[in-house]
Amino acid sequence: MGYVETLICRSCNSETEPTKILACPKCFAPLDVVYDFDNIELTRDSFKSRPPTMWRYAELLPVQDAQNIVSLNAGYTQLHRCKNLEKYFGLKEVYVKNDGLNPTNSFKDRPASVAVSKSIEFRLKVIGAVSTGNLAGAVAAHAAKAGLPCYIFIPLGIESGKVGQIEVYDPHIIQVKGTYDDANRLAYLASETYGWAIANITMRPYYVEGSKTLAFEVSEQLGWRKPDHLIVAVGSGALMRAIWKGFNEFDQVGLTDGSKTSIHGAQAAGCAPVANAFESGSDRIKPVAKPDTIAKSIAIGDPGDGQYAIQVAKTTGGRIGSVTDREIQDAIKFLACKEGIFTEPAGAVTIAQLKKLVEGGYIKSDESVVCCVTGNGLKSIESVPAGAKWHTVEPTLEALSRVIAEMN
Ligand SMILES: *Cc1c(COP(=O)(O)O)cnc(C)c1O
Ligand SMILES: [Zn+2]
Repeated sequence: MGYVETLICRSCNSETEPTKILACPKCFAPLDVVYDFDNIELTRDSFKSRPPTMWRYAELLPVQDAQNIVSLNAGYTQLHRCKNLEKYFGLKEVYVKNDGLNPTNSFKDRPASVAVSKSIEFRLKVIGAVSTGNLAGAVAAHAAKAGLPCYIFIPLGIESGKVGQIEVYDPHIIQVKGTYDDANRLAYLASETYGWAIANITMRPYYVEGSKTLAFEVSEQLGWRKPDHLIVAVGSGALMRAIWKGFNEFDQVGLTDGSKTSIHGAQAAGCAPVANAFESGSDRIKPVAKPDTIAKSIAIGDPGDGQYAIQVAKTTGGRIGSVTDREIQDAIKFLACKEGIFTEPAGAVTIAQLKKLVEGGYIKSDESVVCCVTGNGLKSIESVPAGAKWHTVEPTLEALSRVIAEMN
């Protein structure tokens, strides 16, 4: 193991040693991990006997010594072929990548596993995260497994299912009276003051690497082929950028053939700074001061990787749009009733956006599309639309018969 070559700045291209560093020392832009691709020998056969987790791609992940890996076996989640959606939209191939099936029920187990592993490799003694809910659970779980003390920063108003999940791992929960952006600023100050390894701040260049395994898996599960389109939710924009990096790296090591995937982003209308910038043709993102949406896990008003998400959409022929909370709720119900998959609101934005892309003619009937369901519906049951068909009866056949007669 150990193929990390250097860190490269996304803005000024200068190289930095792969140490504990969160941004380019020259211009403060984000840093990307670069691997020694010439010496990585991977063929499609290499994967035949590897375990079905994200760590099957270890050569392309930034942990140098396998002993440092902290894993709850995240990844290699189901890629569902969605025949009912194909029929409904008149499309050839529709898939849902169900990352709600991860150990803590969201895709955040991928970056959390890498961040906690890398913290162990750097001999750091305290881990943490700033989170809209899902990352908190993922980091707290991996910290528990690693036996590290953990500090979780969350804003006010996250869903009760997520709060309960965080509590069970017993980290220090620091609830910040404010938005995600307020929590983010405080967590940054804490990391500077106390030397804590905040997964998505201190460990940022390594942390985001975990997310690209979602793209690796989609390629492998489609038979070493990339889809024509992929749709993903955009909060900070980090996941969308990581998926693009993942597709590129599989091409670079020769596992896939360089064919293009249009990567589309979806936001909630109540917090859509990236979609708004994309739609107005600008690279400048105007932060949203008070996010207001049921899609709490993507309610980030000042998205750190927003401009890079726009770049990804532009270079791949993708689009970034927004959908209303009403459309999100309809999509939660629609996906459940058509395909049996229960998503949280942030996953449903991709289904609502699929509808818009098909209607707008951006996805053609002979093309393939993957929608990323990034979190499990059980985490935010309060977002399930009301109106289920309930019938409360006495425990007798007579009573049941009366109710059934009333139905018809
Ligand atoms: C964090 C999160 C996202 C968005 O990820 P970013 O990298 O912040 O854009 C999407 N869906 C769910 C369920 C999430 O928890
Ligand atoms: Zn730089």
